[in-house]
Parts: sequence; structure tokens; C-alpha cells
Amino acid sequence: MNKMVGVLAMQGAYQKHIDMLQACGARAKMVRYARELDGCDALIIPGGESTTISLLLQKSALYEPLRSFAQTHPVMGACAGMIMMAEAVDDARVTPLGIMPFRALRNHYGRQVHSFVTDISLNFDEGRPFPAVFIRAPGVEKLSADINVLAEYKGEPVMLEKDGHLALSFHPELTDDKRIHAWWLKHIHLGTL
Ligand code: GLN
Repeated sequence: MNKMVGVLAMQGAYQKHIDMLQACGARAKMVRYARELDGCDALIIPGGESTTISLLLQKSALYEPLRSFAQTHPVMGACAGMIMMAEAVDDARVTPLGIMPFRALRNHYGRQVHSFVTDISLNFDEGRPFPAVFIRAPGVEKLSADINVLAEYKGEPVMLEKDGHLALSFHPELTDDKRIHAWWLKHIHLGTL
């Protein structure tokens, strides 16, 4: 049986992540309740609005189950999902999950330009630029030394990896380029590509 990747389906482009995972040959399902984490081998937290996701996680009693899931399973977080993965956030309305040791800065790339697409270089595939979609995207600071920076934008980290967890400032699901999902699945030994 193929491994199963859950996609937190509270808000945001969760269907796009599901499509991308399936295009990479993985099985994927929506996660809205804690019991739906059963049977998942990994999880994606999509973008959206981190203040809202934070509230919804508390309301739906998913906060603690997600924290313990992340101790034994890989988690990918994109944009607001990256903010939720952090240990600390520059906005007291967000209670992050503390999955990776860094501090998230909300809307770091969103002040002048609301959203933009830019080519970045992935350090596992340097020859081919990746079209990164930034939508009021978070920045990061206070990274612990054991975090691997897999991509930067203007000299600042925008893609972080540690122990199979992956956090991205941008939205890898909003392009036709499957390389990031495919790389992550392979990296966490769920890949079929
Ligand atoms: N700016 C949003 C936040 O702070 C994130 C935006 C996104 O996920 N595209 O939560």
C-alpha cells in the first residue's frame, strides 16, 4: 500500500497540494479532525491566514494532536503553514506549533508588493530555477544552526529543512512545477518518482 499524506484542510489552497501530491504518485487526504491524522505518514499545512488557522486549530482540538504528530512524522508548511511550524512568531495572535526552531515574521515580503513570482535556486537542483509564488509571505529569523537552508531570496532564507520537516515562505503548489513536493516525498522516503 502506498503511503498516505494528510493535508490540513481548514482554509487555503489545500486541494492544490492534494493534486500535486497525487501527481507525484502519492496518496493524499484532507485532515479536518484529529482522528483523520490516523493512517497519515506525513502532513502538509497549507497557506492561508495564520491568525485564522491558529484559532481553528484550537477550536477543533487539533493543536496538541498536530504537535505530537510532528514529533514522529514529517510535516511541510507553506506560507501561513510555515508560520504555524515556527517556534515563535512576531504576532501574539498566532500560537505556532513549535515544529521547527526558528522565528517567523508575518507579511515580511508583503509590505510593498502584495504578491509576486520570482525565480529562486533550489540547492538540490541548482541548474533549474523554481518559480516561487510569494503572497504576503513570511520571513524567518533566529534559525537554529541545525536547520538546512534549501533556498534563499535576496540573501534571506525562504526554504528550511530539518529532520524531514520542510517550511517554505512561498507556495510551491501554485505552479505546475512538482519538484519541491517530489523532492520532499523522496527525502522522507514516501516518494514514488
Ligand atoms: N500573510 C499570511 C499570514 O500571515 C500568510 C499568507 C499566505 O499564506 N499566503 O498568515
